[in-house]
Amino acid sequence: MFDVVVVGGGPVGLYTAKLCEDMGYRVVVLEEDRNIGKPLKCSGLISRNIERFFPDIREWNVIENEVDLAVLHSKRSELVLKKAKAAYVINRTKFDRKISEFVKSRVRLNCKAKGITFRKNWVEIDTAKGKLRGEMVIGCDGPDSTIGKGISVGEETVKGLMGVVKTKDHSNKVDLYFDKGSLKDGFFWKIPRGKTTEYGVWGKYVKFADLERFFGLKEYEKFAGLIPVRPVKRTYSRRVLLIGSSAGQVKPWSGGGVIYGLTCAKIASNIIEKAFRFNDFSEGVLKEYESKWRGSVGKQISLGLMFRKFLRSSTDLQLDIAFRTGRLFNYGRLDMDFIL
Ligand SMILES: Cc1cc2nc3c(=O)[nH]c(=O)nc-3n(C[C@H](O)[C@H](O)[C@H](O)COP(=O)(O)OP(=O)(O)OC[C@H]3O[C@@H](n4cnc5c(N)ncnc54)[C@H](O)[C@@H]3O)c2cc1C
Repeated sequence: MFDVVVVGGGPVGLYTAKLCEDMGYRVVVLEEDRNIGKPLKCSGLISRNIERFFPDIREWNVIENEVDLAVLHSKRSELVLKKAKAAYVINRTKFDRKISEFVKSRVRLNCKAKGITFRKNWVEIDTAKGKLRGEMVIGCDGPDSTIGKGISVGEETVKGLMGVVKTKDHSNKVDLYFDKGSLKDGFFWKIPRGKTTEYGVWGKYVKFADLERFFGLKEYEKFAGLIPVRPVKRTYSRRVLLIGSSAGQVKPWSGGGVIYGLTCAKIASNIIEKAFRFNDFSEGVLKEYESKWRGSVGKQISLGLMFRKFLRSSTDLQLDIAFRTGRLFNYGRLDMDFIL
């Protein structure tokens, strides 16, 4: 019997586990993969606001490059967003492993949660290695979440594909390409990773062949993952919270989710503490998590949904005009956190 069972050993699950054990709870983390941080499913382009969570991240040896510019390309125009040292290009495998070093509780690898059963005084988690009990279960199991399904929450996802080439690129800009002729819904990207260059694409029906055609890629290493495009309808139930990708806490138009997930983990930790303090794990107490996180990042997510709708429905010409107009109105000074 644990106080808190965290399902998923990604950055959000590990950070949540750390916050819970700092409050004195007995925690276990279940991770279905054999290794933390692998297989790689993330570009790791993360705004410098990551320092709010990990102030000494620069000393972790996980930063591959730093970025000051994001260039949004339409067919015949572009919009340049600038902010000095706006974002880090982070090695997600090393990043996740570093967070796991802060977690003192047991992280059970190769231990997939298969489903949950609600009992009167606890929740039972069925795993590949037997059953576990928890006062609370925190679903941080990413897109297509088993815990989300356990509380009847479905999620809309798209595919994210990355191709990494062994060409050095230490430049300070990321490029995002919107080309309706090649891709109706989604975009292509190029990220300078220092010792390598990453090319990527995201969208509902994208294939590696799209990436090869668009960038002329031949020899490259392939990585892929799912990205939620909107928050799920409900992120709590009796004794259960969903945090991170399992809750759809991502930038709906770009897929960036690490900062939102960590932000929501902090919010969740306050509600978890409250539930234990009152020994009340009912929906009445846990629903505060939902209102608090929506109050924090919900507005940005709504803006992101509008931007995604605009990008999906626009023609190349409309995007050209929008990016040109953006230059006139100096949108380039926009907070890059919206983008990265
Ligand atoms: C191609 C791609 C590129 C991306 N690029 C960026 C980016 O540049 N910047 C950014 O901020 N975000 C990016 N994202 C999004 C980012 O990866 C997520 O927002 C972030 O990983 C969310 O963290 P998480 O811990 O919630 O989920 P995850 O990182 O998905 O971790 C979930 C963990 O749960 C485990 N798990 C799943 N099911 C079970 C189960 N049933 N039992 C036990 N364990 C389970 C998984 O193995 C995984 O380790 C990208 C995503 C993709 C797919």
